[in-house]
Amino acid sequence: MAQKISLLRDEPLKPYTSFKVGGPADLLALPKTAEELTALLGYAAQQNIPVTLLGGGTNVLVSDKGIRGLVIITRELKSGIRIEASSPKETLVAAAAGERLSSVCRFALDHSLSGLEFAAGIPGTLGGALAMNAGTKAGDMSGIIRDIKIVDPRTLTLEIVERKNLEFSYRCLELPGIIVAATLALKPADRLEVERTVQENLSFKKSTQPISVASAGCFFKNPAQGMPAGELIEKSGLKGISINGARVSDLHANYIINTGNAACDDILRLKQHIQDTVFNAFKIKLETEVRIEGE
Ligand SMILES: Cc1cc2nc3c(=O)[nH]c(=O)nc-3n(C[C@H](O)[C@H](O)[C@H](O)COP(=O)(O)OP(=O)(O)OC[C@H]3O[C@@H](n4cnc5c(N)ncnc54)[C@H](O)[C@@H]3O)c2cc1C
Repeated sequence: MAQKISLLRDEPLKPYTSFKVGGPADLLALPKTAEELTALLGYAAQQNIPVTLLGGGTNVLVSDKGIRGLVIITRELKSGIRIEASSPKETLVAAAAGERLSSVCRFALDHSLSGLEFAAGIPGTLGGALAMNAGTKAGDMSGIIRDIKIVDPRTLTLEIVERKNLEFSYRCLELPGIIVAATLALKPADRLEVERTVQENLSFKKSTQPISVASAGCFFKNPAQGMPAGELIEKSGLKGISINGARVSDLHANYIINTGNAACDDILRLKQHIQDTVFNAFKIKLETEVRIEGE
């Protein structure tokens, strides 16, 4: 590689994910700039090795055998959060993809900006939140995005993609490339009002979800109609059941938690059991929201 970027070999991925499971990556890199990221993509293409991307690792389940090829973790892609433009109606906030979503929320609050209150308590990076179209009933990333800056993995060029050319759906963005930065369109607001909504959302999350235990958040997507996934799982009598260290949370049935020593395999077996039981009871096939990576 023209640029000297350290590559870790056979690096266990467990510490890089909120589920705290997962075997090693053949190669792992944490680029700090878009140039380093581009150089890594060029290297992988030249060596003909597959690339897997992780941000904060809070929505992924990595297999026990780990991930072959190169894993690129984008959480070090940071260059500060800043106001790019401001008018009485709208303030544009720009940040690199590796910034924590919570830091962007904090920035919005400190500058009396509304639009990101829904994201209070959602862990991970800005890039991951955009890739997942992270959100709650109160809103999601598609509602506040102005544009994203991407690296096109085929041409290795940087491009800006505007909102109108981005295809968001429930917990998904059709990715035109790897996100290196984004501009959000927020609204000037009363600081106390923004803070009150953030606190309400945080308290609700803390009282209804096991946020301090290892997990990847809600495991299954809510079906388009009818009962949400958590209710379907609870009504199927699955709350609290476990396979080794993998357990259906007693607080929120759509959370599979790692009580300490779960392997990916335990979580996958529990996932299958939940899907089969819910299907037998309701004829509904639950789809995973968590992204499963590795062999
Ligand atoms: C306790 C807890 C609570 C949660 N609550 C919520 C919630 O309320 N709502 C919600 O929507 N989610 C929630 N989540 C899930 C998760 O936090 C979000 O999906 C988060 O936005 C993922 O960000 P990340 O950086 O961790 O992404 P990762 O988990 O690292 O990656 C997720 C996906 O995004 C891709 N990706 C990551 N970075 C980039 C990039 N720069 N460019 C292109 N693709 C990229 C990855 O390849 C992967 O496919 C929760 C998780 C936990 C553990």
